[in-house]
Amino acid sequence: MSAGIVTAAERGLIGCHRCGHVVERPSPAPAGDCGRCGAALHRRKPQSLERCWAFLIAAMILYIPANTLTMMRTINPFNSTDDTIISGVVYLWVAGTPELAVIVFVASVMVPIGKFIALLILLLSVRRGSDRDRAGRTRLYRIIERIGHWSMLDVFVVALLVALVRFDLFGRVEAGGGAICFGAVVLLTMMASLSFDPRLIWDTPARHD
Ligand SMILES: [Zn+2]
Repeated sequence: MSAGIVTAAERGLIGCHRCGHVVERPSPAPAGDCGRCGAALHRRKPQSLERCWAFLIAAMILYIPANTLTMMRTINPFNSTDDTIISGVVYLWVAGTPELAVIVFVASVMVPIGKFIALLILLLSVRRGSDRDRAGRTRLYRIIERIGHWSMLDVFVVALLVALVRFDLFGRVEAGGGAICFGAVVLLTMMASLSFDPRLIWDTPARHD
């Protein structure tokens, strides 16, 4: 049941992803280059699902060391303290700054996990060729894309806040392996969402009409 949706690709139209120029090419013909800006044209992003899966799986794997390895090591003449993301959140909470604890928790736990779940929903539903709530899934993609614009905030907030709270005149703060993994998780989820082509949501691989 396709509910009468005809995509531009099915009409033989290709939009240039660089300049927005719309070119008419009948479907079996090679997409070629954009006549206006010279960019290679694609009916859909090449290997969109495969790339998205690869980046997403890598991000989910790295999210484990991002949480288990040390995010921040605070060293002063008397002792040194290792913090993971969660122990940093607990520290901020106990230290009487629950607002900061909530910001760090949202940026470093809820946002990445939310992105993983949303991308999994999109990937699995596109693979099944689902025609359920396409508009809703497109909105979901737009939300992930919008969050991506300030994704680096996750790393920045965690690094800055833990450093600020633990700041000590005689001490120093070092980023641990967890911070590097977390930075990689943010980059990989951004690349996963950029690889995903939301037009795939509107394609129906097996039409029965
Ligand atoms: Zn163009």
